[in-house]
Amino acid sequence: MKGTSDVSATTAGEPTIYDTLIAGGEVVDPGAGLQGALDVAIRDGRIAEVAPNLDRSQARHVVDATGGIVTSGLVDLHTHVYWGATYWGIEADPVAARTGVTTWLDVGSSGSYSWPAFRRFLIEPSKSRIFALLNASSIGLIAPTWEFSNLDYLDLDLAETIVNANRDLILGIKARIDSSTTRGVGIRPLELARELADRVGLPLMTHIGIGPPTLAEVASLLRPGDILTHCFTGNSMKIVDDAGVPDSAIMELHERGLILDIGHGTGSFSYDTAEAMLAAGVKPDVISSDIHQMAIQGPMFDLPTTLSKFLNLGLTLPEVIERATSRPAAAMRRPDLGTLKPGSVADVAIFALEEGEYIFRDVRMNPRRGSVRLINTLTMIDGEVLERTPELPLQPWSAIPEWQRGVVDPAEDRMEG
Ligand SMILES: [Zn+2]
Repeated sequence: MKGTSDVSATTAGEPTIYDTLIAGGEVVDPGAGLQGALDVAIRDGRIAEVAPNLDRSQARHVVDATGGIVTSGLVDLHTHVYWGATYWGIEADPVAARTGVTTWLDVGSSGSYSWPAFRRFLIEPSKSRIFALLNASSIGLIAPTWEFSNLDYLDLDLAETIVNANRDLILGIKARIDSSTTRGVGIRPLELARELADRVGLPLMTHIGIGPPTLAEVASLLRPGDILTHCFTGNSMKIVDDAGVPDSAIMELHERGLILDIGHGTGSFSYDTAEAMLAAGVKPDVISSDIHQMAIQGPMFDLPTTLSKFLNLGLTLPEVIERATSRPAAAMRRPDLGTLKPGSVADVAIFALEEGEYIFRDVRMNPRRGSVRLINTLTMIDGEVLERTPELPLQPWSAIPEWQRGVVDPAEDRMEG
């Protein structure tokens, strides 16, 4: 079948020591120091062994990964997967099955009031792993924005109670800080989100976009271990000036451990910013999608497409894979995920690294030519293949701006003129 990796069964009768053997591929797992022509053996839902030329006769199923790139299942640090009860949410599993994302960090779709349903009806039944950053606003992202415009929704005592009862799934706090989310109340929501993150002892992820507030006001409230998402935005709070000089406060924080995360989305990835930052020698720490009802329609599309943009910007394949596996797992303080280290859960993705002529676009539709892209061919969770299933239709409110509509597959896209 085109676009998928073959799975075949070995002959019965032989004693087997592996449930599945992924054979013949190129393993890329820089976080675990695993790289090269290696086979990956799986037993009881965990990685049993990663080594060259493992014995195929010892496996019940063999996945032929010849010519493919074998990675840990991708970890997407900025997603919205609270389908049906929030403005932004997509359904995780069908997208996981075609993109290789096995762990989703949902960032702030849920606030305290909507948390119980997120946990029970979305996270628990999901095959792919979903963790969350709790929105500092109790109403979360039910609507497109304005979640902080009423400061009464920053109920820190309630949020602390919810976090303490759900520390298995809630890994941090989220605050979107821009002119529409705060709408007239200034930087106060971020001060309160800072207090909440300190009270529960978890990282704070802050989004930046169109100010006010200013980037300086945001920077003053960030700490090492926190995450600045939309780090390559081209909007007014951007972290590089028009002369190509990165913001000194952000760079100082970054050196001390502030995590710079892409969060592409529909409004937050600018080729001009990315090229200026890379020219200044600053690579993002994490490459995430900010996938949601709108971004999934393009020009973001999905995490592999976002990773492909960075491959074509000059990052190496191991650099890109590390930024979507072990690096985001570390940012989530879950170093057990995003790795093929023996003993880890057997979340595995296989990709084809296709060569061709592609046009990739940033959120303002600025085009760049590319010559390679990553296409997911197989996704496994706990050692089981995640079957591809149809995706739910987009929500009635999911229309994207006119000028972003009609974006086509990067292989079909053409430059104007
Ligand atoms: Zn987002």
